Amino acid sequence: MNDKITEIVEKIVTGEIKLHEVDNYLEANAAMVARRIALEKILNISLPSIGSTILDYSEIKNRNAENVIGGIQVPVGVIGPLKVNGDYAQGEFYVPMATTEGALIASTNRGAKAITDSGGTNTKIIFDGMARSPLFYLKSIADVKEFLEWIEENQDRIKETANLTTVHGKLIEIKPFILGNNVWIRLVFDTGDAMGMNMATIASENVCSMIEREFQRAKCVAVSGNMCTDKKQSMVNSLLGRGKTVVAEAIIKEEVLKKTLHTTAEKIHDVNLRKNLLGSARAGNSYQFNAHFANVIAAIFLATGQDMAQVVESSSGYTWTEVRGSDLYITVTLTSLEIGTVGGGTRLPTQIEALSIMGVGGGGNPPGSNAKKFAEIIASAVLSAELNLLSALANKELGRAHKALGRNIKT
Ligand code: NAP
Repeated sequence: MNDKITEIVEKIVTGEIKLHEVDNYLEANAAMVARRIALEKILNISLPSIGSTILDYSEIKNRNAENVIGGIQVPVGVIGPLKVNGDYAQGEFYVPMATTEGALIASTNRGAKAITDSGGTNTKIIFDGMARSPLFYLKSIADVKEFLEWIEENQDRIKETANLTTVHGKLIEIKPFILGNNVWIRLVFDTGDAMGMNMATIASENVCSMIEREFQRAKCVAVSGNMCTDKKQSMVNSLLGRGKTVVAEAIIKEEVLKKTLHTTAEKIHDVNLRKNLLGSARAGNSYQFNAHFANVIAAIFLATGQDMAQVVESSSGYTWTEVRGSDLYITVTLTSLEIGTVGGGTRLPTQIEALSIMGVGGGGNPPGSNAKKFAEIIASAVLSAELNLLSALANKELGRAHKALGRNIKT
């Protein structure tokens, strides 16, 4: 530790310098070290593992995190090969999953094998658009009516104003919602390969300023009025889509069901109907009639630098099954998958490597194609995990697998 770091550590410990002020005195990586050592002294603990990181804080600062003291490591595994017959993802893929839940990767992998042995998934992207919903206050419902008419008449100018702030972003839809004297305008953007939340927010702020200038009776209360809806479950996302609405399907052959999954189409279908549909309905869940989309979404998000809080709405969706002869038809619908291959955490070194495993790191050619390919691969991995868990439940082997792979107990 050099003298300068020692001096700053002492000043943090005595309270003379606050943690966030350290960046004003030291170069980025030295600041990260000083903060961690000061914290160790204040709490009388030792943080050597957090301190040993490959992260370059000069790359993180003012981009990804503040008050950084090091890095956290999470195991990352892969499933695959998983065959995907998509519009953007075509071929066999290995998919990285970061998790500490023993059995998750192995179980998703077994589903992927059954799907690949049956010819792979078909996938389609049904909707693509990131939403931000500024909220406006008006004095009366007469003003609301005029405001709605003004928005309708000025759609093109609103779009031009939004598009001034970004090269890859395009405002594609303006959808107003009202409650009394409150108006939300749900602005939906094509965001290329980016998840697009910063892009949409910056563009929406430009729109809000223009509206307040030109329709002065409308006052912007907040650039985000929760009709977006970001990082929360909502019916509006489930019905209209946010990010990407993506669907994947597969037909699992009878011999694969028997050999790999040790069960039958009828048994899986019965578990799906009674658990995913009836059980979710009885539990009062309107958005997630599925077995465990969130497991796969969280693990892929963590591996690839997605915004983890968006696991909330990205794991909304439905699993549907049909018995076709002795084969099983299974499909998953992800209503609001919010992902990117550029921007946010996707630029970090381990995350960009994880994206490269699927051939989707960085911007696509044409722009947007990498994010769409990524979405199709994610939906196929989710389908793999749903198929396997339904099979494991039908075959009463869930607890056994978790004992062996989550607790290291052989039975
Ligand atoms: P971003 O990193 O802020 O912006 C993406 C950047 O990539 C833009 O500068 C864009 O340029 C550029 N770009 C280059 N090639 C591109 C391509 N092929 N497609 C699309 N863009 C391309 O990322 P973001 O996706 O807009 O926002 C994600 C971040 O927002 C995450 O860190 C997330 O945690 C955070 N977030 C923010 C809010 C909020 O309210 N602001 C809410 C939730 C999450 P152009 O724009 O010039 O095209």
